[in-house]
Amino acid sequence: MAIVFHSPWDNADQWLAALRAAMPREEFRVWPDVGEPKEIDFAMVWQIPHGVLAEFPNLLAISSLGAGTDALLADPDLPRNIPITRLVDPLMADRMAEYVCATVLSYHLGLDVYAEQQSRETWQRHQTMDARDRTVALLGLGQMGQRCALRLDALGFNLLGWSRTAKEINGMHCTHGNGHLDEVLGSADITVVLLPLTDRTENLLDQVAFNTMRRGTCLINCSRGEIVVEDHLITALNNGRLRGATLDAYRAEPLPRGHPLWRHPKVRVTPHIASLSAPGTAALILADQVRRARNRQRLLDLVDMKHGY
Ligand code: NDP
Repeated sequence: MAIVFHSPWDNADQWLAALRAAMPREEFRVWPDVGEPKEIDFAMVWQIPHGVLAEFPNLLAISSLGAGTDALLADPDLPRNIPITRLVDPLMADRMAEYVCATVLSYHLGLDVYAEQQSRETWQRHQTMDARDRTVALLGLGQMGQRCALRLDALGFNLLGWSRTAKEINGMHCTHGNGHLDEVLGSADITVVLLPLTDRTENLLDQVAFNTMRRGTCLINCSRGEIVVEDHLITALNNGRLRGATLDAYRAEPLPRGHPLWRHPKVRVTPHIASLSAPGTAALILADQVRRARNRQRLLDLVDMKHGY
């Protein structure tokens, strides 16, 4: 039996080298050169074209090469009767926490304000604020959100957390469910989005949500572009509701040339790099998933098909 691999990322060779090192006895076939479809029993994929996975009649399981599975689940022909797993790698949570801490600190210290002043050769000091007086809201308290919470707590910020189900996390006030979103958004100086893209989170941050936020709030979106209504975001930036936005994910990726977000003075754009998958550690996690599938054991980090993440 063989494993089908697909990744449109530029580090596909690095992935294959890591996977082969972790599973030296496995045969990897890189889509579309898969040979006989019935010989494929495991899929490790990222953004594989819709319909392809349905062509493998003996597939035991599918593992996403990333933490998010929205693109995979959008495949109308996805085999839904087999386990589908997402990548849960502590190293990725560390990487996300570094990105989020760097960005939160940058707004906290006013580095965006000083960068703008520098462009006008303006020497002007502003009051500094203590971290404990700065409220950071984390929307999403999963693998990524909880690691960010741990690091931001160590930096002294006042933390609010919001998730779908109830959570108790040391050092932060947690709420859950749509009924509490306004309260969280209305209390935060900096809002960090770490939610999966699902039917319930798509377009969550629209004009109504932005109007609920405190004037001068900063937004950091590290999850998926579809959660934010970009036109409404631009309006909120232009009318001063938002002080700034740091975006790592967009409705269209790569962000098209000429898109207004590229040149907006209050927007910082990064090209979906907040937490790249790390082939070296991921390959060990995936090797364990293959072993489990072949031994008919329960796989880890299964996607909850009912909730879509
Ligand atoms: P998890 O599944 O571990 O956590 C998701 C969190 O979102 C959970 O706390 C969950 O609540 C919460 N949530 C889901 N739906 C809702 C809802 N309707 N209302 C409120 N809360 C909700 O995911 P990860 O932390 O691993 O990753 C989060 C997302 O980050 C990924 O789906 C992906 O899109 C993105 N990502 C982006 C990367 C980048 O480089 N930009 C890299 C990696 C991930 P509950 O705890 O109750 O289930």
